[in-house]
Amino acid sequence: MRKKIVVGNWKMNKNVAEGVALASSILENLDGGKMACEVGIAPAYPVLSEVGRVIEGSDICLVAQNCHYEDEGAYTGEVSVRMLDSLGCSYIIVGHSERRQYFGETNRTVNLRLKKALEGGMRVILCIGETLEEREAGVTDAIVTAQVREGLANIENLGDVVLAYEPVWAIGTGKTATPEQADAVHASIRATIRDMYGNADAEGIRIQYGGSVKPSNAVELFGMPNIDGGLIGGASLKADDFVAIVNAAG
Ligand code: PEP
Repeated sequence: MRKKIVVGNWKMNKNVAEGVALASSILENLDGGKMACEVGIAPAYPVLSEVGRVIEGSDICLVAQNCHYEDEGAYTGEVSVRMLDSLGCSYIIVGHSERRQYFGETNRTVNLRLKKALEGGMRVILCIGETLEEREAGVTDAIVTAQVREGLANIENLGDVVLAYEPVWAIGTGKTATPEQADAVHASIRATIRDMYGNADAEGIRIQYGGSVKPSNAVELFGMPNIDGGLIGGASLKADDFVAIVNAAG
């Protein structure tokens, strides 16, 4: 039985005071951070430290939205895994579609970041998903399969890896994949993992769904056999909505 995982990706929202208020409210409403599923929140880099202090001692994980693939050096504007570790992060998101779309990330750079994060003792959420044009062209499976294979190139141990299937056309648009549409892609991702790593890893790996998840659709999505929780954008910015989504994951 896979333990579901729900993570709020705050993106470039909330300053320190706002982030502390949101984290405090989430913690309070989640009964001090005791949940049946795994829960994480991913504030922007400058907000990690203070939010980390709020959730310290609870079961809520501190999650970073990205990391660089070198240990240190002349990489202006980038943040290393060691820095994130020192702030108390336990998960790092890599390959979010906004990074791919606006910041030129490719399967190769995503793979480098993922490797560096795992080497640094982090757990990783690898985001994958097709654009609307790709879906309409009927190449969803091919795109997602390539993202999984290339994103996980030379990774031997999947124990610290979570996948997040996020159709780009459903992110921040209010359009959600139907539970059946999402589950079909999740099943195909699981089949790719089976092909690469064998049955135990395919059955064990958690695959979150992301793309306009809200309290009103979370129960149905999380009830699908291959969906193991969610990566939540917009709805994670309101404590009540995020908590309702966490509760929907059981
Ligand atoms: C996301 O960006 O990871 C996401 C799922 O966003 P939203 O929930 O706003 O669609």
